[in-house]
Amino acid sequence: MISEEIFSRLVEAQAASDDPGAAQARTLGLLAVFNSLWEFYLLAPNGDVFVDRDDGAPLAATSAERDLAYVQAARRFPELRHLMPERRPGTRTCPQCGGSGVVVLADGRTVFCGPPCNSRGWTDR
Ligand SMILES: [Zn+2]
Repeated sequence: MISEEIFSRLVEAQAASDDPGAAQARTLGLLAVFNSLWEFYLLAPNGDVFVDRDDGAPLAATSAERDLAYVQAARRFPELRHLMPERRPGTRTCPQCGGSGVVVLADGRTVFCGPPCNSRGWTDR
């Protein structure tokens, strides 16, 4: 799913950085592709996704969490662009973000679009 060479390079770079996911990259060997204040979405080289909520071992992601992790990985790391979920026929452009995956708040800040879009820019219905 992800070439070992590319994955190793990304994890090593993250581990050596001051990125919020650097600790997980160092201790778990997983790539942090997205984080909020209370959780990290961690990608394994075989495409598995784990969510680390800082209250024990990282847990296997739900399918919605995996989708979000893939979208964020594709946005953040050009080498992982192929992880972007393919938009299926019959889906519609997300009315919340207009397809951008990002919502602009009244104060000008931007946040990633939440469920059911999960920053893909489209929804199933
Ligand atoms: Zn959206």
